[in-house]
Amino acid sequence: MPGFAVVTFGCQMNQHDSDRISEVLARAGWTAEPDPELADLVLLNTCSVREKAEQKLRSEVGRIALIKARRPSLVIGIAGCVAQQEGERLLARMPDVDLLIGPDNIAELPELLAQAELGAPAQVRTAFDTDMPRFLEARPAPGRAKPSEFVTVMKGCNERCAFCIVPHTRGPERYRPAREIVAEVRRLVEAGSREVTLLGQTVNSYADPENSLAPAPGAGERPWTHTHPTTARQDESMFPSLLRAIVASVPGLRRLRYTSPHPRHLTRSLILAHRDLEPLARHVHLPVQSGSDRLLRRMIRRYSAAEYRERVAALRAEVPDVTLSTDVIVGFPGEGREDFEATLELVRDVGFTGLFGFKYSPRPHTPALKLEGEPSEEEKSARLAELFAVSEAQRQSHLASRVGTTQRVLVEGRGKGSGYTGRSGQNEIVHFECPLDPTGEIVPVRITRAFKNSLGGEPELGWLGSEAAQGLSVEARAARSARRLLPIAP
Ligand code: SF4
Repeated sequence: MPGFAVVTFGCQMNQHDSDRISEVLARAGWTAEPDPELADLVLLNTCSVREKAEQKLRSEVGRIALIKARRPSLVIGIAGCVAQQEGERLLARMPDVDLLIGPDNIAELPELLAQAELGAPAQVRTAFDTDMPRFLEARPAPGRAKPSEFVTVMKGCNERCAFCIVPHTRGPERYRPAREIVAEVRRLVEAGSREVTLLGQTVNSYADPENSLAPAPGAGERPWTHTHPTTARQDESMFPSLLRAIVASVPGLRRLRYTSPHPRHLTRSLILAHRDLEPLARHVHLPVQSGSDRLLRRMIRRYSAAEYRERVAALRAEVPDVTLSTDVIVGFPGEGREDFEATLELVRDVGFTGLFGFKYSPRPHTPALKLEGEPSEEEKSARLAELFAVSEAQRQSHLASRVGTTQRVLVEGRGKGSGYTGRSGQNEIVHFECPLDPTGEIVPVRITRAFKNSLGGEPELGWLGSEAAQGLSVEARAARSARRLLPIAP
């Protein structure tokens, strides 16, 4: 059977697409070959949100082209946002590439590969599925799902943030029916997953195309002081109803996360969902981008710093132990020292426990290309370093504050050393030693140390002696798998 290797650049959305690509190829008779040197097809799944990712793609294609020079039958494909954005132009620049495929065309991959095998010239398939959106489902074999999996709820984006290429590369918003989403979460949990992360570019703008969800408690309630009532109504979505439907329908789901929300859809009903739903993680990654109203307007973010602060305060009032992380862009055109100071102030005020900071880089097809006043590279680097110093200090003090507490850790698997690793409900990475294999379990871990980026600890003694822990012993696991192998009674 021919072998394929998928190399992924960029975000979780891309990683999720890569998993679907692998499944589509496996169903068409291909086998995964982790070593590109030995593969018959190398597919580079690309990201174009930042310039660096594109540079990485160029050097990766150069590296794979050397293999193709020795073995001309090797097929090189490019998938993802760069393929979508560049189309035919990319083929002209990279003559070794045989195939370009956009995020909405993954299902067509086997057919295109069959044509390539018959000697078809290089092919480009990058049409958006706007009329009949397709969402490829995860189909793990029983017991083979990862403890933590992703489920797409929507694709595309209707926002027009001035710096962002996503509306161009992923198209307008298209939503998946709620019943399909709930069914996929159920299947994953039945196949062994304990945590699901719902994925979408603005995941909390979700609307069920079949309109099957009951309104969520709090919908339309309590207009914000800093948001006009009309805008507040537009901010409502069906996302909180979707969260409630998933939790009600899949009782085996231990933890539910989502990424990436837009701050303007952090509505009262979403906040109440966080208060009421036990599996919903006590962590929200809420990209703010800037703390300056002037910059937020230039970025077309459609909220002010006061609105952002107000919504975060309302979330904290209902869920006091929630942690927040964010994205910040420094050096956006027009950013002066005062704007940057406002960002630092907001970062300090909100007390983010995680922050992804980026220097602005102009992207093709974005409104920001017309804006003037981009700070120099030196200035951008200096601001980014200053921002990181603030966020790093916050993170260290947050991690130190966890020592002595007990965190419920969803175990993802073996860590780098001899122990296990997982995440707390507040999204901290926790390492610990354990005499049993607790992968996929939620383990109460007493935190004893704070590292630079993570925590260390040990399982509560009470849990180690519990029935749940004993069920993880080698003997118990062997008995369970023996039972699974017994024929099912008619
Ligand atoms: S909300 Fe803005 S930053 Fe996020 S994907 Fe849409 S356009 Fe890009």
